[in-house]
Amino acid sequence: MYPRKKADKKVDKKKEDMKMGNWENNIRKVVPYTPGEQPNQTDMIKLNTNENPYPPAPGVTEVLRNTDTDALRLYPDPAAKDLVHAIAGEYGLQDDQVFVGVGSDDVLAMSFLTFFNSEKPILFPDITYSFYDVWAELFRIPYERPALDEHFHIKKEDYFRENGGIIFPNPNAPTGVSLPLSDIEDIVEHNQDVIVIVDEAYVDFGTQSALPLIEKYENLLVVQTFSKSRSMAGMRIGFALACPKLIKYLNDVKYSFNSYTMNRMSIAAGVAAIEDQEYFLETCGKIIETREWTKKELRKLGFYFEESKANFIFAAHKNCPAEKLFQALRAQHIYVRYFPGGRTGNHLRITIGTRNEMEVFINFVREYLKRRIYGSFSTVVYR
Ligand code: PMP
Repeated sequence: MYPRKKADKKVDKKKEDMKMGNWENNIRKVVPYTPGEQPNQTDMIKLNTNENPYPPAPGVTEVLRNTDTDALRLYPDPAAKDLVHAIAGEYGLQDDQVFVGVGSDDVLAMSFLTFFNSEKPILFPDITYSFYDVWAELFRIPYERPALDEHFHIKKEDYFRENGGIIFPNPNAPTGVSLPLSDIEDIVEHNQDVIVIVDEAYVDFGTQSALPLIEKYENLLVVQTFSKSRSMAGMRIGFALACPKLIKYLNDVKYSFNSYTMNRMSIAAGVAAIEDQEYFLETCGKIIETREWTKKELRKLGFYFEESKANFIFAAHKNCPAEKLFQALRAQHIYVRYFPGGRTGNHLRITIGTRNEMEVFINFVREYLKRRIYGSFSTVVYR
């Protein structure tokens, strides 16, 4: 045998030092959720993540400007009592019917962990918020996804069968389609042995909330957010409304995970946002008005879509592939969201911006479609 080389000996030594084993077998492996991109260009028109184009209520700016930074030495109130109290007051509830978290993603993740512990599959639509299957995989919750009908509507009868829990957004995302309150009640009524979660991230743009039903059904949890209708996606505030028993279960899990979820500034800014109901109604009203204007303009240009009650429109064009238009818009720094493949692959989800932003968007699309037909752009300046 030849004498072994120095390098071989080095490798053996490294292996020994590192104690290489099968540790990767025991890792929790997940395919994470992909959030919409957050480009940062001064000239961009950002219609891709359903943010609100208007700033938060003036009181929020005031609170943040006057933040006592010395107090940041101290942990925040783990129960976020001031914010819980403000939300309860706004919705005519008791404080023990409100749970708050770091955006509704945090509230929803805690809810999956707390309420979906059956061996039976939980149910949510095949086309919906794409975080649901990520949480189900993460927490190893079995799930099934009943298909929306050909018009992207939830078929309530699909949820009248044995299951380990139910969740759906109302209005649904990315379709914008709402389910009437009577259908929601029917689903809750048929599922008294499991928890039904209605994710109302976009409810303030024209859908009836399921909130009145929480007094009647103790298995119903309504989840909302400050990210959309209250212009505070960057602050991360979400909340759940339900009977005190469900809220207590949620808090027990939260306190077993991370006590201090809400930071001091979020709590104070959240209270200020809730206090300015007039501003909230005014900005939601403007978005609804702009949404209806955008629908009309899109129809004139040959787009088709279901009736959206959210701050976005999920639209397809009769003879322009969505991906091509998505790329063309992107090149102009106009960002919309595109979900490739399957039944969503020929649609674009277009968030409603200011009226001015939507005019620039529509003008660009009009010219783009003309170019596809006649082969060249006219001399229109887009913005
Ligand atoms: N639910 C739905 C349906 C959503 O689209 C979103 C936004 N991505 C959320 C919940 C989470 O929003 P946030 O965590 O900002 O409250």
